[in-house]
Amino acid sequence: MAINYKETIREVKKSLSRDLSKVKTADDLEQINIKYLGRQGEVNLLFKTLPIKDDSNIGKAINELKDYCKQEITSRLNILLEIKSDPIFDVTVPGIQPPKGSLHLITHAINEIESIFSQLGFVRRRYPEVETDWYYAEGLNIPKGHPARDDQETFYLSKEIVLTAHTSNGQLREMEKVKNPPIKMVNIGKTYRRQADTSHSAMFHQFEGLLIDKNINITHLIGVMDYFAKAYFGNDREIRLRPHHFQFTEPSFEIDISCGLCHGKGIIEKLPCKFCKSGWLELGGSGMVHPNVLKNGGIDPKIFSGFAFGWGVERVLMMKSGLNLPDLRLLYTDDLRFLKQF
Ligand SMILES: [Zn+2]
Repeated sequence: MAINYKETIREVKKSLSRDLSKVKTADDLEQINIKYLGRQGEVNLLFKTLPIKDDSNIGKAINELKDYCKQEITSRLNILLEIKSDPIFDVTVPGIQPPKGSLHLITHAINEIESIFSQLGFVRRRYPEVETDWYYAEGLNIPKGHPARDDQETFYLSKEIVLTAHTSNGQLREMEKVKNPPIKMVNIGKTYRRQADTSHSAMFHQFEGLLIDKNINITHLIGVMDYFAKAYFGNDREIRLRPHHFQFTEPSFEIDISCGLCHGKGIIEKLPCKFCKSGWLELGGSGMVHPNVLKNGGIDPKIFSGFAFGWGVERVLMMKSGLNLPDLRLLYTDDLRFLKQF
């Protein structure tokens, strides 16, 4: 029976297109290649059926079919390769790195401060930033109407509730919590004051240390302050105490640290150091806990004594890094152009 070549070629093409539409892998394609173009493939079998003397164009048509099959299979292969070379599918190409986050400057400083004090056995605490007047002021020996309250204009939420202007409220809370000394804590938190300009923010951070035990005296205070100054700022730094007045400590001091730029000399190449005042920089306040405060915390001042200090996190951070910010509030604005520099 004579073969209807035209019809058969059309069928082969149809069948090929059906097969190609199901291809998922290069192996599938190889099977199709064999099925159509292999030695026993559809195209070759068709050639074998050709009459010996073929003067028609059937041979030519089958050759065209062969080229057609090659072309179709190759173009399908190219699509497969394209998908494979897509970075999403190519397991050999390193993945796209998501943007890396990092800790904020202030978080870094807090972690470092916490770690230094923990080496001395101080426990990290966090006490309320919304506080009653008792823990915030009155219990700390600052009675209502006392002028010391004027130093820290703060936000009163009601007559008795305040946003803390210092972290010292943690002192009484810690005494109540631990009850029996020794007490060794560092309370790090946010503080609030009515101030807002390029060098002051209405919100900033403080760390408050408190150590209470038997026979604690000023030498212990100096030892701890000196340890912190050297650990945080460097071994070559010295501290000094300047008498001061705070209501909740007696005696009270301002702690200064020797300037890292002029090494405490106050002079660089015969000119006054621009970074400090005569070789020293003010770190913050400290002192021996006032007996009234111990009493208010339920601790007998005849048996126990202690010292406390409260310093600004931003302050020590700026002093250490030498950062000279045109506006302190940059630290809180979450501007990535600023934060990415660190
Ligand atoms: Zn200096």
